[in-house]
Amino acid sequence: MIDPKIQKRVLERYAQRRRASEDELSRRTREVQDKIPEIAAIGKELRTTVLQVARAAFESGTDPKPRIDAVKNRHVELIAKRSELLVQNGYPAEYLNLAPSCKKCSDYGYIDSKPCSCFLEECVKEQGKELSSVLDIKGQNFDNFIGQYYSNNPGDGEGGVSPRQNMESFLDFFQDYAWNFGRHSINMLFYGGPGLGKTFMSSCIAKEVALKGFSVTYDTAINIFGNLEKEKFGENYEELQMQIKRYMLSDLLIIDDLGTELTTSFVCSSFYNLLNTRLIERRQMIISTNLSPKEIAARYTPQIASRLSFEFDRFHFFGKDVRQVMKENRRLRY
Ligand SMILES: [Zn+2]
Repeated sequence: MIDPKIQKRVLERYAQRRRASEDELSRRTREVQDKIPEIAAIGKELRTTVLQVARAAFESGTDPKPRIDAVKNRHVELIAKRSELLVQNGYPAEYLNLAPSCKKCSDYGYIDSKPCSCFLEECVKEQGKELSSVLDIKGQNFDNFIGQYYSNNPGDGEGGVSPRQNMESFLDFFQDYAWNFGRHSINMLFYGGPGLGKTFMSSCIAKEVALKGFSVTYDTAINIFGNLEKEKFGENYEELQMQIKRYMLSDLLIIDDLGTELTTSFVCSSFYNLLNTRLIERRQMIISTNLSPKEIAARYTPQIASRLSFEFDRFHFFGKDVRQVMKENRRLRY
């Protein structure tokens, strides 16, 4: 689906583009008519030909075709005459025919209520911009993953797997996930301590999935529940409505830092509602949290804990805080 916030923004841009083009055409028309009075007369007659065609089509009794053909021929003649005059006066022949940026949809973005390919492309670009306003996705590429900051010692990891091996297997899996993203994709729960790359990995996935044309919404748990609460308690402005629609309807929703919010009974009921709605409609989610599955069970209702454990695949990020390791490395070098 097209993200409603993005769609609105892009549609506004298309309307602006059409207005700018109309303004430019009026400006050129005035300019040319001042210099070449005959063009003003041609313009006037051209406007009447359009009316004549419409009138002929509705006239009953006689066959309208010969009259329509005659008017059409006159129209072609007038356009040719106008181009000739333009060229004679040093203008390009097409000076008064402004072409739209997209010929398929004439810059309306839609053809018969279906989005035009130009519109979809523009939405994908806009989606990238939108994501980069909330996430630092510029440098966040799977290619920029640096494994050397994770220990290669199985003793630092779990079940004989070193933190680096663990991350490398995640990297492969998440790349595949992003490239093959669709309705069939799984939901994922990233858990583990801070500074282990959970947000980095979600950003990389978000970026790839958005590039494929899916709508992606990223937000922190604090913001999500805060917005749901505002709506529930009567705040109802358009921006808020749109944001909530995105939480519910985006193809992929990333909830970052679950557990940092104040977990009230309102949070539990709206979280359950969000989870349930999205699960029923098969819209994917990635949730990242510093809480362990045990802490999740203790903090939220049994219904939520059960959804999170049965409907989500768990990914445990373990090892030493990468930011800490980077700091230590720097200290050793200098
Ligand atoms: Zn188009």
